[in-house]
Amino acid sequence: MHETALAQNIIDIAQETGRTHPEATIKTVRVIIGEMIAIVPELLHHAYDSLVSNTPLCQSKLDIKIIPVSAECMHCRRSFGVQEFEFSCPYCHSNRITVKSGNEFYIEELEVESCPS
Ligand SMILES: [Zn+2]
Repeated sequence: MHETALAQNIIDIAQETGRTHPEATIKTVRVIIGEMIAIVPELLHHAYDSLVSNTPLCQSKLDIKIIPVSAECMHCRRSFGVQEFEFSCPYCHSNRITVKSGNEFYIEELEVESCPS
């Protein structure tokens, strides 16, 4: 279960941030995940929700944004979107391509709510 490990990773980072800002309650954790990581969003949501129960993040929600795979051809220098993991250039059919996006995995933003003072 790839998703459980990723969810744990996200939670560790979010909790680390939470420790440095104890006055804030994390409401939403926005993550950017490239299509190459090949996650199933429903499984990641499920893993997250079960892992955050009984932690300070139990009220938080995960917001997942999937980045499609794009690549550039080293032969004709054109950029294109990669469909269904077909790693060849649709223009000149070269296999010499460089993946430009789709490998992302990071927290874009933590949406917090500060306690009223
Ligand atoms: Zn090409």
